[in-house]
Amino acid sequence: MSTQVGVQTYDLFINGEWVPSSSGETFDVINPSNGTVVAKVAKGSKEDVDKAVEAAHAAFENAEWREMSPNDRADILFAIGNNIAKHGQELVLLEALTSGGTLRRVGGNDILMMVDLFQQMAKFVKEYPFSETLPEPMFPGPAHNFVWREPLGVCAAITPWNMPMLIATWKIAPALATGNTIVIKPASNTPVSTLKLAEIISEVVPPGVINVVPGPGGEVGESLVTHPKVEKVGFTGSTEVGRRIMMLASSTVKNVTLELGGKSPNIILEDADLDLAIPGSLFGVFLHAGQLCESGTRLFVPNSIYDDVIDRLVALTKTLKVGHQLDMNTSVGPVISQAQKDTILSYIETGKAEGARLVCGGKEAEVKGGENGFFIEPTIFADVTNDMKIAQEEIFGPVLSVIRYDTVDEAIEMANDTIYGLASGVWTRDVNKAYEIARKIKAGVVWINDWHMLRNDAPFGGYKQSGIGREMGKYSLDAYTQLKHVHTSMVHEPEKRRAFGILFPEG
Ligand code: NDP
Repeated sequence: MSTQVGVQTYDLFINGEWVPSSSGETFDVINPSNGTVVAKVAKGSKEDVDKAVEAAHAAFENAEWREMSPNDRADILFAIGNNIAKHGQELVLLEALTSGGTLRRVGGNDILMMVDLFQQMAKFVKEYPFSETLPEPMFPGPAHNFVWREPLGVCAAITPWNMPMLIATWKIAPALATGNTIVIKPASNTPVSTLKLAEIISEVVPPGVINVVPGPGGEVGESLVTHPKVEKVGFTGSTEVGRRIMMLASSTVKNVTLELGGKSPNIILEDADLDLAIPGSLFGVFLHAGQLCESGTRLFVPNSIYDDVIDRLVALTKTLKVGHQLDMNTSVGPVISQAQKDTILSYIETGKAEGARLVCGGKEAEVKGGENGFFIEPTIFADVTNDMKIAQEEIFGPVLSVIRYDTVDEAIEMANDTIYGLASGVWTRDVNKAYEIARKIKAGVVWINDWHMLRNDAPFGGYKQSGIGREMGKYSLDAYTQLKHVHTSMVHEPEKRRAFGILFPEG
């Protein structure tokens, strides 16, 4: 890593070292609040992927890493957590500056979750059943049987731009906890925090265990997904790219974990405490300018309280300050890029054309000093119907669709009427009613009187086209291991082997 007139230049991170890309080309990383270039990053290619995979493969072939005891591995995971905490300030700044995440969120939440994740993994790894003994079998005769959980090998992680560093750790932690090695392809908008994170982690793991190759998804990403020495792909991003990854991974029958898009339903019941449900629902949709896959973008409100809820949502939304992500008073920062801003504004136009009633926001936000940045006013549409495009497609921006309902059954039916199934929520004073609804909703998480409450010990992932597999918690370790059955017969005389008798009836 070197410095060039105030703009940092980053190489690829392979085998514990910074190395230039084979082509010598770089690409720019910008601050989404003002469009200025904040870093230049080496642009990886297929050739660089080959180098990184070879380094990761060699690191995996080292039995000292692969077969390390759970206790020693727990020490390493703990040390990684400590190292992240030590470099926390730098990581937070890089992440906020390039992803547009507010300093309040990245510094007050993400970095703490990352440290906690590695510390919790240290505990999970000690309790994980790496070797299980099966009971004595009835057939085919006395034998000792074990089931071993073994690492997969070289894992690829392909990550998005919205929370690049945190999402990378959801793949790095379980991969390393189970003895794999990893090559990460971060999103092209936000590679630098992941590069720095890899350098920090590599201080406590052998060279080649963690590698990062930034570069275009179509080349670097696809080279990883089709590489014969990559055993697994952990992907977070759009459902569209997830489908392609699944298809490409099939050519070498790779294990895949997919964390994809969402259009999560949030149901306010008639008896909800609106003093809690109104700020909670806005927190659910406008955090990180709506660029979170599990945002509550479809809000279902009973007809009987609909107008009151709309008035209160609008009044509170108008108090949110849109601004630079490093300003501690900012509630809603920029969206990631001009392209994303254009997509969101075009969805807003679609909503108007579909007949939804724009009651708040709906255009670019004016931010002093951010004239070249990508700001959008938090936007609310009322009178949305669940079949509208703005209710069915993921916008990935600060846009809330508020849908009316008459009966709770009708709300549940509409909540499930989507290709997605990532998150969901219910606001009510009746907890039994909430559990009844939670049973009926097809989503990987249900928040009751809350939103965005991911935990490092709870599984996270989607139903339906929101994904395959689960990340976080002890559950994620299963996704990075494979099972081996080891059988040892205790009968040494061939004539006493009942199974052999099938082939040798005369004994
Ligand atoms: P994309 O799916 O476009 O990109 C995600 C990653 O995939 C990036 O690193 C990208 O690289 C890479 N990529 C793009 N094309 C390919 C390809 N053909 N083969 C392999 N890799 C490829 O999503 P975004 O980054 O734009 O993120 C927004 C989307 O991600 C939203 O739909 C959101 O819902 C979803 N998301 C889901 C989350 C979840 O946990 N379920 C969390 C966060 C986001 P490059 O940047 O170079 O194009």
